[in-house]
Amino acid sequence: MYLPDIELHETGALEETAALMARYAPNARLLAGGTDLLVDLKTGRLRVAHLVSINRVGALRGVTETGGGLRIGALTTITQLERSPVVGQRFSPLLDAARKMAAPQIRNLATVGGNVACAVPCADLPPILTAMNASVALFSAKGRRNVPLEEFFVGARQTVRRDDEVLTAVLVPEPSPGFGAAYARFALRDGNAIAVAAVAASLLLDHDDTIRDARIVLGAVAPVPLLVESAGARLIGQSPAEDAFAAAVEAAMQAAEPISDVRGSAEYRRELVGILTRRALAAARDRAKETQ
Ligand SMILES: Cc1cc2nc3c(=O)[nH]c(=O)nc-3n(C[C@H](O)[C@H](O)[C@H](O)COP(=O)(O)OP(=O)(O)OC[C@H]3O[C@@H](n4cnc5c(N)ncnc54)[C@H](O)[C@@H]3O)c2cc1C
Repeated sequence: MYLPDIELHETGALEETAALMARYAPNARLLAGGTDLLVDLKTGRLRVAHLVSINRVGALRGVTETGGGLRIGALTTITQLERSPVVGQRFSPLLDAARKMAAPQIRNLATVGGNVACAVPCADLPPILTAMNASVALFSAKGRRNVPLEEFFVGARQTVRRDDEVLTAVLVPEPSPGFGAAYARFALRDGNAIAVAAVAASLLLDHDDTIRDARIVLGAVAPVPLLVESAGARLIGQSPAEDAFAAAVEAAMQAAEPISDVRGSAEYRRELVGILTRRALAAARDRAKETQ
């Protein structure tokens, strides 16, 4: 498999990157780690005449604390995310996903921005980021905007991002006291295997231990990371005991839109959603209690 003839552009400035995309989109793609994009180009799934590398754009780097939470620069690699002290201390549910992705060699190249922007249904970071109320920051020659993740994905490999927009960062709000989140996934082996099904859950507990807010987000069982609002609603006002999870588990299983493929049948995936929802909720509850 060889790459077709493509013109490569590279600049260190975000504004120039946006100008190149405004000029060449839709016949251009942004190149980050290349772990998805180069495969698509080599296999012919995607054909474009221009690649705009963002690897020298300093404004897209770094994991930093902002007033209201965490800013993860789009070029942050999965390895850098795993090793970030602030992620380990206060945003550790992200590690549930980061540590299960691919294998170390891929994690050294693959970026957070690429994992979100590619909008592949089995991508690991979008469900847990959505459960943690994250949004993405977009930049283009026309301006900036932020989009909550639950509004970002519109179909398999499709988002509301325009072709000329650069995803500059993922923004995760500071978790409140009583907030806990977790990500559980099932894959056919530990390394270099994509999720067959995955569930992210978050809970916000009141002082008296009742659930004030809950989010359940499914991965790899629908065209988009699926925020199941009916499942979260069934938990609100409940105590976070295992038997209170049953209605939410049922709602999550019903909401899933799984397909059958070489990794598992639709029925098998729906069963997995039930098991993983229960696991993610229990882990989110335990973490929430630690922060109350
Ligand atoms: C062997 C192997 C195993 C894998 N296993 C997993 C896994 O277990 N879990 C998982 O989630 N993924 C997995 N992946 C997929 C891949 O590694 C991730 O999705 C990765 O995070 C993509 O990031 P990247 O920087 O390589 O993106 P690229 O390949 O450079 O880009 C991917 C897409 O996103 C766009 N893009 C990239 N950055 C931006 C930006 N800042 N703004 C706008 N658009 C942008 C590109 O134009 C392209 O369309 C695997 C890949 C391989 C090859």
